[in-house]
Amino acid sequence: MLVDSHCHLHMLDFKALASDLDSIISLAMEQDVKQMLCVGTNLQDLPKILRIAEHYDQIFASVGLHPNEEVETEPTAEQLVSLASSSYKIIAIGETGLDYYRTEGKDNHQWQQQRFANHIIAALTCRKPLIVHTRQARKDTLAILKSERAGEIGGVLHCFTEDWQTAKEALENNFYISF
Ligand SMILES: [Zn+2]
Repeated sequence: MLVDSHCHLHMLDFKALASDLDSIISLAMEQDVKQMLCVGTNLQDLPKILRIAEHYDQIFASVGLHPNEEVETEPTAEQLVSLASSSYKIIAIGETGLDYYRTEGKDNHQWQQQRFANHIIAALTCRKPLIVHTRQARKDTLAILKSERAGEIGGVLHCFTEDWQTAKEALENNFYISF
């Protein structure tokens, strides 16, 4: 059995795919992908994600704000915890992390780091693993994972494109790596 730990079923363009969600999920099942985690990147998509996750037994959901997502009011760790408890289908916090690639020239590293730390606090509070995105930010990602004690809950570093040294440090801190 395969588990897709990172998909965005709520973002699929069914018109372009000339398909629908039922067919896509059946295709995945035929290929032995028996469970999927539909990952949130912002909070306004959550109702849509939950509608999907609550409709299909094999689909689960996560709550989080992608590092490049711009919002007017930043959610607190408490707000993330309360959203994460709003459905039995929510099994993880994320995606969260740091992305300095798409923000080059913009001075927003500090709020990205604060947002990332808030997600780790939320994950530790509600005991749900983290889905971490990191791009051109491996040093700061590892530093924050360690300083906020993310290893106590663990999770996955998704879409991993860093070096073996970074992978080793993540693995030592109770994280999986996904390619
Ligand atoms: Zn993603």
